[in-house]
Amino acid sequence: NPDFDIIIVGGGPIGIACGLEAQKNGLSYVILEKGPIVNSLFNYPVNMQFFSSSERLEIDDIPFISKEAKPKRDEALEYYRRIVTSNKLNIHLFERVESIQKNDLFRVVTDKNAYSSRKVIIATGFYDLPNMLGVPGEELPKVSHYYKDPHFYASQKLAVVGASNSAIDAALECWRKGAEVSLIIRGPEVGQRVKYWVRPDIINRIEEGSINALYNSEIIEILPEEIRVRTPEGEKRLANDFVLALTGYQPNFDFLVNAGIALSEDEKRIPQYDPDSMETNVSGLYLAGVICGGMETHKWFIENSRDHAKRIIRHVLTLQD
Ligand code: FAD
Repeated sequence: NPDFDIIIVGGGPIGIACGLEAQKNGLSYVILEKGPIVNSLFNYPVNMQFFSSSERLEIDDIPFISKEAKPKRDEALEYYRRIVTSNKLNIHLFERVESIQKNDLFRVVTDKNAYSSRKVIIATGFYDLPNMLGVPGEELPKVSHYYKDPHFYASQKLAVVGASNSAIDAALECWRKGAEVSLIIRGPEVGQRVKYWVRPDIINRIEEGSINALYNSEIIEILPEEIRVRTPEGEKRLANDFVLALTGYQPNFDFLVNAGIALSEDEKRIPQYDPDSMETNVSGLYLAGVICGGMETHKWFIENSRDHAKRIIRHVLTLQD
């Protein structure tokens, strides 16, 4: 007999939703999470505000009460942590899944243990692997692909690379805490998906000259005390203390491929799954949450992927009948 009916890989909002749904339906399960509860949210910028209003982040209709319509990171941590603890979900924290193999049953190997199960759900999100700039100097300690707290950059010369929400939020916050900010944007404008209430703020700060924006520009090298930037007016060298390269993240495709999941052959690399049941081309292996989008990481979010949990558990129960 297997250890569990279902093993859920990833304790983000959607992995938790899957655990809750399995528990409600009397299935045995474990959630394996390599970090703390909702690790991705824990690693978001400390002052981050969701673009979704709180009721759209709810799972299983459990009310999410926040002070403002759109909750902050710490309120979301309260919400999901409380769901885990008050429902006594079976979750192993700080346990990373290293491989998933299918024979008759699934065998899931972690950095601490090995387990067997009838089904596996992968809900690992996309926040682990940053899209790299691929330029010399990117490995210097002054370069980061994750932004946490603006205080760190006060009175420093900071280059922020990117034009979407993460980059724009970081540029504005750090400028407000006294960093000298250059924003390096590959395209001709601030991204169209930037939160509608933030976009005018950044555009005004750029127009008044508070934040130095370089459009149609790319960093070509990072040096300890400066950066070289290719701009339409030719190469520029900017004095620089820190670089925040916030150019997006991507799912761990190797992990999916090693588990036997097929990916589309175009640049989107969308994993193969049935949108009704969320089952992949490997029978009994399911995908849930934002991992489903492949490189299209903006396509899925909590609101439109939280129902994956119910779809999967319904499918598992139908097969049992
Ligand atoms: P995640 O929350 O990413 O959870 C995946 C989990 O899997 C992580 O905890 C990770 O540690 C774990 N994991 C990964 N690999 C392994 C492994 N091998 N073994 C064990 N555990 C593993 N979405 C919204 O709906 N609204 C928003 O306002 C919003 N704002 C965002 C802001 C930022 C800055 C970012 C980056 C994303 C935002 N998103 C937002 C998208 C958001 O990340 C997702 O909607 C949400 O986190 C998806 O949940 P998930 O459970 O699919 O993935």
